[in-house]
Amino acid sequence: MHCPYCRHPDSRVVDSRVADDGSSIRRRRQCSSCTRRFSTLETTSVNVIKRSGATEPFQRAKIVSGVRKACQGRPVSEDDLALLAQEVEESIRARGLAEIDANDVGLAILEPLQRLDEVAYLRFASVYQAFDGLEDFETAIRTLRGINAAPDAAGASKDSAEGQDESGEEDAPKKKSRRRSRPAPEPEDPDQPTLI
Ligand SMILES: [Zn+2]
Repeated sequence: MHCPYCRHPDSRVVDSRVADDGSSIRRRRQCSSCTRRFSTLETTSVNVIKRSGATEPFQRAKIVSGVRKACQGRPVSEDDLALLAQEVEESIRARGLAEIDANDVGLAILEPLQRLDEVAYLRFASVYQAFDGLEDFETAIRTLRGINAAPDAAGASKDSAEGQDESGEEDAPKKKSRRRSRPAPEPEDPDQPTLI
């Protein structure tokens, strides 16, 4: 790695520190030409497995651009987006996996986005979970209302939603088949408000 000041290709390590959670190593380096010091951060790279089966390195910028589209016209600042993306990256890195499904990246976004802005959350969820009609919005809004009415119920309502998917109760089968028949758009299309 070259020196970020003079681009000299050689530097020596003057200090190494492992992060408290063991997920990264920070190294203090000194350029052997200009003698200025800089830091490098070494972490495992996380690959995202896309729906197509292709993998690409996890990029925080993709989280930001995807969520930004969902936040158009909403009172959400660039700082909010940066913080959300950081939170998503941390939650993904905390799993300690070398690879993660694009689906799981999306799920990791939904929760902090819901806390940030509920309208943006509904937009994002509608694309990401391929909402097919008013019914899907109504279900999502009901869930949001439930979460807001009783903060303690957040986990419980999530569990029951998952349980429905698994047991195939009520409206779950319809939803599942919709999702299968109409998968979310691929991220390569820049016009689609999706990111993964
Ligand atoms: Zn240098």
